[in-house]
Amino acid sequence: QQQEWAKLKDEPTFTSDGEQVELAANIGTPADVEGVLNNGGEGIGLYRTEFLYMGKSELPTEEEQYEAYTSVLEQMGDKPVVVRTLDVGGDKELSYLDLPKELNPFLGFRAIRFCLENEHVFRPQLRALLRASVHGNLKIMFPMIATLEEFRKAKALLLDEKEALLAEGVKVSEDIEVGIMVEIPSTAVIARQFAKEVDFFSIGTNDLIQYTMAADRMNQQVSYLYQPYNPAILNLIHTVIEAAHKEGKWVGMCGEMAGDSIAIPILLGLGLDEFSMSATSILPARTQILNLSKKEMTSFKEQLLSMGTAEEVVAFVKEKTE
Ligand code: PEP
Ligand code: MG
Repeated sequence: QQQEWAKLKDEPTFTSDGEQVELAANIGTPADVEGVLNNGGEGIGLYRTEFLYMGKSELPTEEEQYEAYTSVLEQMGDKPVVVRTLDVGGDKELSYLDLPKELNPFLGFRAIRFCLENEHVFRPQLRALLRASVHGNLKIMFPMIATLEEFRKAKALLLDEKEALLAEGVKVSEDIEVGIMVEIPSTAVIARQFAKEVDFFSIGTNDLIQYTMAADRMNQQVSYLYQPYNPAILNLIHTVIEAAHKEGKWVGMCGEMAGDSIAIPILLGLGLDEFSMSATSILPARTQILNLSKKEMTSFKEQLLSMGTAEEVVAFVKEKTE
């Protein structure tokens, strides 16, 4: 099997009926890129920049960030690289930032909420990204977007830093796509409105599931409610993809669900464009997709979306794909 996978390393990803999708990888540091390329990754679908900020006693400088982003972009060449801006708070604490202790950290002051209130942290990251953009195919993504205003504010700060750099004579790429993570139900529900303003969506199912089911993703006692295949989740994913495609935008997924062999046929049928997963899942996923017909999976869509339970969904998918 390893040999069969290896043959697919430098191949694009097509379904049995000739539809193309993109298989990308999630990374945390520039050192992870080698593994992505060795495993046939067609892009980076999520670069979690938190690691630059963690395990240190102070903020990373703009220069350190510029070097890290440039390294990833250069290693990836023309391939797309989606960099997510800082997602701290929740489970990810930073000692030097003096984040407040909260009763519900996952519903609290984190990610874009923190960044919009702390421009001294956010602006250097945006500048580093803009400066690095000339070294590859950069796409910028904001995490934990709950409202359209948050997206507009974040994008305005980005444009402001771009203007400033251009005025200083610094080169910035003219075609950086700017998108958001869809990991809060409010954003999935009004994806139609967001789709007019963003360049792309990436569905973060790790959080989207926990917020939709009101089940902490780390709490074993309620893990029975953490259901990726619950029809509620599938309907939200469907809403996002339909809204995006109507506006000619693409949709990726960077939560664990994107690399899951039960979810992959469902997501193909729902029309997902990009699947971002851990590097080692890419070749198995490519092998699986080669043997799936997009047309057939699409024909199951309405049935799946109308089902009552996750269990029914799983049984149906297993029956149809075995
Ligand atoms: C997600 O929420 O699905 C996601 C990819 O982000 P993280 O796991 O970093 O919260
Ligand atoms: Mg998340």
